[in-house]
Amino acid sequence: MTTPPATGSLWSATCAPLEPLPRLLAERRAEVLVIGAGYTGLSAALHVAEAGREVIVLEARELGEGGSGLNGGQVIPGLKHDPDLLAVRYGERIGSQLTACSAQAPDLVFDLIGRHSIECDAVRTGWMQLAVSEKHLPGLRRRAEQWRRRGADVAVLSDREAAQLTGSTRYCGGWIDRRGGVVQPLAYLRGLARAAMRSGARIFTHSPAMALSRAGGGWRVAGGGGSVDAQAVILATDAYTDAAFDDLRRTVVTVPSIQVATAPLPARLRAAILPGGQSVSDTQRLLCYFRLDASGRLVLGTRGSYGDLPVPVTTTAHEHALREIHPELARMPLEYRWGGLVALTRDGLPHLHEPAPGLLAGLGYNGRGVAMATAMGRLLARRALGEPAESLEFPSTPIRPIRLHGLSRLAARATIRCLQLLDTLETGSRRPLQRDAA
Ligand SMILES: Cc1cc2nc3c(=O)[nH]c(=O)nc-3n(C[C@H](O)[C@H](O)[C@H](O)COP(=O)(O)OP(=O)(O)OC[C@H]3O[C@@H](n4cnc5c(N)ncnc54)[C@H](O)[C@@H]3O)c2cc1C
Repeated sequence: MTTPPATGSLWSATCAPLEPLPRLLAERRAEVLVIGAGYTGLSAALHVAEAGREVIVLEARELGEGGSGLNGGQVIPGLKHDPDLLAVRYGERIGSQLTACSAQAPDLVFDLIGRHSIECDAVRTGWMQLAVSEKHLPGLRRRAEQWRRRGADVAVLSDREAAQLTGSTRYCGGWIDRRGGVVQPLAYLRGLARAAMRSGARIFTHSPAMALSRAGGGWRVAGGGGSVDAQAVILATDAYTDAAFDDLRRTVVTVPSIQVATAPLPARLRAAILPGGQSVSDTQRLLCYFRLDASGRLVLGTRGSYGDLPVPVTTTAHEHALREIHPELARMPLEYRWGGLVALTRDGLPHLHEPAPGLLAGLGYNGRGVAMATAMGRLLARRALGEPAESLEFPSTPIRPIRLHGLSRLAARATIRCLQLLDTLETGSRRPLQRDAA
């Protein structure tokens, strides 16, 4: 590498700008107030506005500075847990609700993109999960079989097929889920914002919600330089939930995920690596995920350390991963590096909460929020508009803060180290241990 990569995200460097949005500087009123302008919040706002109801969104930062503007843009169907396990663990009814909702989530993403003409380099040719060890293959085959039984367009991949689709001989095989795809994540987010505003939503940025109280029959939220009175409030703050909503903040553990983007690949490599435009997640415990962007850059992410935020200190682990995928990628200059926080839940599932009448929250996508947060936003909008909880096809759970949450960062750090070591032992890969400066 000759020059160090830029310390901003590829997505902000390659996305059409959004017009500047106002700050909240007065007292306002709306039927629904959404706090947080990521996919959850903007999908909620769009669906409320499309129903012809008044909605205001408060965003603490610039639009896209949360996970939704920083992620890998992989549109992944399904949850971390397989459909059969969900049915066993939560019963047939709730298990199939969770499975169906997560299975349909990519349809919602691509439908919104089509319906609102969102220009975000959307490609829907599939998401692949590929094994770095023979030991992982039976589990991947069972996963594909469970989805195939439920009618999904999936296929098991041999090592040869995986090599043809990725241009890499690193993988022993795996499966492809053709319901998945990729988007330019920030362009998708800005497109949702434009669509919501065209439908009547008002979005205020640099306007953190700071205090929530009962007012009349609804809620008052003080924030920015003003306040909003609303009948219903939706908390859509995921990994970026702050102390203003401390119980909710303590329901998730946040871990950093760091990405790099190479320079555009030369035509020869471009024709060999991911020629079909699919995206990949591997089966390492600290998973590595990659895809191409619209200019043929390889964008690769893996877990980072807390000291790597907002700007990665080192990209050694990424350079190593690129080399393992394809030796020639080691010679490609890295042009961008950036990171963000992922919210993990104790049970590995996203949660919809309704802690009080008219107060809703949706979060905890465990690294699969592009599709699922969009779907959660629609669920929250339907509920905020008065649809009975029983007809939502998604369970509502009580807010249960994690005990000793203050130690979770320490525990996450120790776990990351341990998982790195296990990955190294299992695959024989000498992936460098990540420093943890924080
Ligand atoms: C590096 C990285 C890579 C990822 N890759 C993928 C991927 O490829 N595929 C996938 O499916 N998922 C991926 N994810 C996860 C995905 O990005 C998230 O699950 C998803 O974006 C969550 O959306 P959200 O709207 O719930 O939260 P966010 O997009 O994080 O939005 C929450 C917003 O709330 C705001 N906020 C917080 N507190 C307040 C307050 N008090 N007042 C007002 N606003 C507030 C924040 O500023 C933030 O903008 C990745 C995440 C990261 C960080």
